[in-house]
Amino acid sequence: MNRRDMLKKSAKMMLVTSALAQANIIKLDKKKATNASATEKKAPKIVVVGGGWSGLGFAKHIKSFVPNSEVTLVERRDYFVSCPMSNEWLVNLVDLDFLTHSYIDASVNNNYTYIQAEAVDVDKKRNILKTTKGDLEYDYLVFSVGIEYDYEVWTHGDKKLENRLSREYPAAFIHGSEHITLKEKIKNFKSGNFVMTVPSGNYRCLAAPYERACLVADYFIKNKIDAKVILLDANNKIQIKADGFESVFNGIYKNHIEYMVNAQITNFDLDKKIVSTEFDDIHFEDASFYPNVKAPYLLEKLKMTKKTSFNRVEADINQYTYKVKKMDNIYVCGDARPMGFSKSGNTAFSEGVNLARMVADEIEGKKPKWVSPVTTCFSILRTKPERCISLYTEYEYDKNGGMLFKNHLTNEAWKTNGLGDEKVAYEWATGMYASMFT
Ligand SMILES: Cc1cc2nc3c(=O)[nH]c(=O)nc-3n(C[C@H](O)[C@H](O)[C@H](O)COP(=O)(O)OP(=O)(O)OC[C@H]3O[C@@H](n4cnc5c(N)ncnc54)[C@H](O)[C@@H]3O)c2cc1C
Repeated sequence: MNRRDMLKKSAKMMLVTSALAQANIIKLDKKKATNASATEKKAPKIVVVGGGWSGLGFAKHIKSFVPNSEVTLVERRDYFVSCPMSNEWLVNLVDLDFLTHSYIDASVNNNYTYIQAEAVDVDKKRNILKTTKGDLEYDYLVFSVGIEYDYEVWTHGDKKLENRLSREYPAAFIHGSEHITLKEKIKNFKSGNFVMTVPSGNYRCLAAPYERACLVADYFIKNKIDAKVILLDANNKIQIKADGFESVFNGIYKNHIEYMVNAQITNFDLDKKIVSTEFDDIHFEDASFYPNVKAPYLLEKLKMTKKTSFNRVEADINQYTYKVKKMDNIYVCGDARPMGFSKSGNTAFSEGVNLARMVADEIEGKKPKWVSPVTTCFSILRTKPERCISLYTEYEYDKNGGMLFKNHLTNEAWKTNGLGDEKVAYEWATGMYASMFT
């Protein structure tokens, strides 16, 4: 494939992504007039829990699709910090301002209410969401609550070990203090082995642990730190963009990244700083252990979860309607979903938009139609010269409901493409933040 083809494909990826949110709003603006009579009679109360990528996509678009609805976003955070592009922040390629955005701006600009509170329970019979700031009535309730870590495969219920792993060697795959701790670890690293892990199952952002290994190795090289990243992958192969990552691991990083497959950790000796796999004992100077993921405990408590072939705890929903099983007005979308889609921000945002369309259809008395979410994923591999690989995919279901990839496209020729693709990665993030907050 030549450079021109690559350029065309890359441009196509961007166009599809950035057009997504805009197109939906324009379409619905036209519909507002025609649907006004159907929706003006009753103002539906719509509550969305979780102001991440899916919740922000949903809140903005449901308000646009059903203008007379009363939309409330319940989010426990005071402000938004993006996980996408946080690997770049860890090694000083972007500053915190780039990642940080205001929920107040999102809600004012898009005409919905933001309540900074934690959702703690649901009275399903009376349609009431209980939060730390009081009760909220809903006609439609959406949980877009992301993920929690699932340390079980490592700790087998040993809470003391879990506590030590999460505090001393945080994963930094959920926004917050963990990222600050990890950034300090990288900054202060003197020499030796820095261990990172790739979990099994359908974990959050398939590419991010591999990208992080590259960027941390790049940082060590640039700063002349005599260090090696040891990446222990619980899987038997690289999970995504394998050609690109494999060639960079074996190429420019062959002395700075040691990548091990089938490397599920079977024992931690945190005092001696040794982890063991079935095959090796590995000593580390410092580490960040990324465990498996699961749907948040709140969904478990509400009896809205099930086990899947991917993860131990995921939302128990109808994969075509996003409705919680046996419930007609409660939905789950984003990373908490059980489907095998990529647990990524672009996917979650587009799913939020799609679900908004489906709920709007339901309100308007139409039959909601499932539409595929869209995954777009950029991974920056090195910084001087800057190099990036990317992926675009949609999904479909086969006749038995099995998930298939559709329009799947990757660009992994990082050595030769010379596209300056990393600029596209920053443009993608800028566009997505604008879609959520303006
Ligand atoms: C290092 C890293 C790099 C990544 N890179 C990319 C990338 O390049 N591209 C990409 O597309 N994706 C990327 N991702 C993945 C992306 O961040 C997630 O897939 C995305 O955030 C999922 O969106 P979500 O809405 O499902 O969950 P989240 O964004 O996690 O949002 C969930 C929200 O719910 C809130 N919440 C949870 N429970 C409650 C409650 N009970 N009450 C109130 N609020 C609650 C949380 O505070 C949170 O704000 C990356 C992730 C990481 C960690």
